[in-house]
Amino acid sequence: MSFVTESPIWRPFTQHALQPGAFKIARAEGAWLEAEDGARFLDAISSWWVITHGHRHPAIMQAIREETERLDQIIFAGFTHEPAEALARRLVALTPPGLDYVFYSDSGSTCVEVAIKMALGFWRNRGEARTRIVALEYGYHGDTIGTMSVGARSPFNAPYEPLLYEVSRIPFPSRGREQETLDALERACRDRPAALLVEPLILGAGGMLIYGADTLAEMKRICARYDVLFIADEVMTGFGRTGTLFACEQAGVVPDIACYAKGLTGGALPLAVTMCKREIFEAHLSPERARAFFHSSSYTANPIACAAALANLDVWATGEPAARVAALCDMQATRIARFADDARFSNVRRLGIVTALDLNVADRGYLATIALDLMRVFNARGLLLRPLGPTIYVFPPYCIEAAELDLVYDAIGEAADCFGRSA
Ligand code: PMP
Repeated sequence: MSFVTESPIWRPFTQHALQPGAFKIARAEGAWLEAEDGARFLDAISSWWVITHGHRHPAIMQAIREETERLDQIIFAGFTHEPAEALARRLVALTPPGLDYVFYSDSGSTCVEVAIKMALGFWRNRGEARTRIVALEYGYHGDTIGTMSVGARSPFNAPYEPLLYEVSRIPFPSRGREQETLDALERACRDRPAALLVEPLILGAGGMLIYGADTLAEMKRICARYDVLFIADEVMTGFGRTGTLFACEQAGVVPDIACYAKGLTGGALPLAVTMCKREIFEAHLSPERARAFFHSSSYTANPIACAAALANLDVWATGEPAARVAALCDMQATRIARFADDARFSNVRRLGIVTALDLNVADRGYLATIALDLMRVFNARGLLLRPLGPTIYVFPPYCIEAAELDLVYDAIGEAADCFGRSA
């Protein structure tokens, strides 16, 4: 049976009273998921923005198989291993210049937690009491208490509100209102915060909201002027999503601290890194043990995941993914254009391989049940799409073919026929 209703599993981001079941997937390949009974789903959101090239990329799978012949988890304090060493060297060479140190963890949330802790440790070890983080309206950085605190407040995190720490929130730089954001950032910087934390160029879970590279570059300049650390959360944007390998490249921005996860292994295994400038590492160097960076997770630098990431970087080094990304950007641009003047949608937009559009419905906001109605329509057509409230977005793996993308956009048109209304 490919639809499971009786299960002891409590699934993430799921209201079980409304969504009691789940499709049981037995096989994944390329852009497709296949259920036990043979039903197929086109994975048009790359399984929560994780898969880059496609499911089960042969070179990455092969590297994983080979590494299991040598290593499993190895303690990573006092000991190291070649997959982690080689990967760190490769990442330092690949990421914006100056990100010279690599701290390993295992998820997007943890690498952002690490970034925040690095920033606070940096200032403390320098003898400055700077603990405040500046963050963007609608931002999302994970679901731990620490990363929820820097993310936007919403019904999702309301139960934990008393535990969430305060941040300086600056408005999202929507088009025409960029100066408001920059002014707010400048005011916040005068209070000597520890760091600005942003998702560069596109805010994911906050609604696939896009802003300009010029604004990102200006944000970095303001931070530099006030000696505020700039943290880029590239967990979603990293590894090609925005059309370049990393989003910060488009703004010529070198972050002081950068977070990468999801696409680091091509999506095959959990692995994350927080990379930082030399001065942040060196601020933690001291004969006093208390100044060390006290963070670890049991699975830090898992060798098999590092081997998968190395294989992924080898795949990128062939140039093929960059060419596929460029082609996919064009394919996405032509397909989303068909809705540009469709009155049932607003804010039709694209950045890199990501497109998004807001269906005009009465029920808006994060928890709008329209998302579930839409999801059912898409699932019934063999598509995996997971709208964010009324925002439908397409975030495909790079292997998707033109005809497959057409299925996605046809279904979006049909969904609008069912639920959309002219604004
Ligand atoms: N930061 C961003 C920008 C993300 O999009 C996500 C996940 N969607 C996270 C952090 C958290 O990553 P994870 O789910 O791996 O903890």
